[in-house]
Amino acid sequence: MELLKLSDSGLYCEIGNFFIDPWRPVDRALITHAHSDHARPGSRSYLCQADSAPIMRLRLGEDARIETTSYGETTTINGVSVSFHPAGHIMGSAQIRVEYKGEVFVVSGDYKTDPDPTCLPFEPVVCHTFISESTFGLPVYQWPESKRVFSEINRWWCANRDQGKTSILFVYSLGKAQRVLLGIDASIGAIHTHGAVENINEIYRESGVTLPVTHRVSGERKDDWRGALILAPPSAHQSAWVKKFGSVSTGFASGWMRIRGARRRRSVDRGFVLSDHADWRGLNSAIEGSGAATVLLTHGYTSAMVRNLTEKGLDARTLATEYAADENGGE
Ligand SMILES: [Zn+2]
Ligand SMILES: [Zn+2]
Repeated sequence: MELLKLSDSGLYCEIGNFFIDPWRPVDRALITHAHSDHARPGSRSYLCQADSAPIMRLRLGEDARIETTSYGETTTINGVSVSFHPAGHIMGSAQIRVEYKGEVFVVSGDYKTDPDPTCLPFEPVVCHTFISESTFGLPVYQWPESKRVFSEINRWWCANRDQGKTSILFVYSLGKAQRVLLGIDASIGAIHTHGAVENINEIYRESGVTLPVTHRVSGERKDDWRGALILAPPSAHQSAWVKKFGSVSTGFASGWMRIRGARRRRSVDRGFVLSDHADWRGLNSAIEGSGAATVLLTHGYTSAMVRNLTEKGLDARTLATEYAADENGGE
């Protein structure tokens, strides 16, 4: 019996009778992180890393049965040992290590190897089989140093401010927004947030992450938006919501901005290459660090990565999962 295999509902451990990040409701779901394509509602019970729990609660509702574990702590489920390890993706994100009779699988969830002050750094976990995401599994995806990207955002914001314009930066509400808030120079001007972003900011603050002061955009208040920075989820783009800000410059912070033409397709004025996923080099170094002889790849550009790993002598295959191909589940 394989320790973990793909079923209609998701990655399944038959011996332990649990699922990891299932896309259909199941009895027992172990969750790598709270992005909506990994943490879906309807399961009877959830197990996640403790820092993930408040966000899971916000998204899955008051009635969801959520149990927590700490990084590195071992839980035994029907004789199978399970532990969670930092994935460096967003607050509380984890790789899940599954061990039975000496055989070890690690399910990466989403991860990155670049620094992020909102979460613990990615921790290499040695295993026989590594189930890795591959969202940006093409050599063209190479991230610039994040410090450089934050300077670009600062310069763009300053230039807009000096022209009396409002800067609207589209960022995924969970993870990316908070990383941006800690990366930029908050002294440039006022920062306002879409409700979806501010709800997550509140949880991060309650968890001890010191974010700069932000103001929730509300319908009633008449603010002077000139010179301000507005953080909003990509879904707010081209909605009535953005109309109220008058003369604006728009930007999008995402790994997708690495590709020529992506900015125009998103119809924003500026693209900033900033991702909460590993780039090609990050994926390769994480896979190497796992020491795994077998690598199963989920979401994204898996076929180029399969070829690359096969050439290195690894047993590499694609797993047809139902995680969103868009970064952070399109949030
Ligand atoms: Zn994902
Ligand atoms: Zn994610």
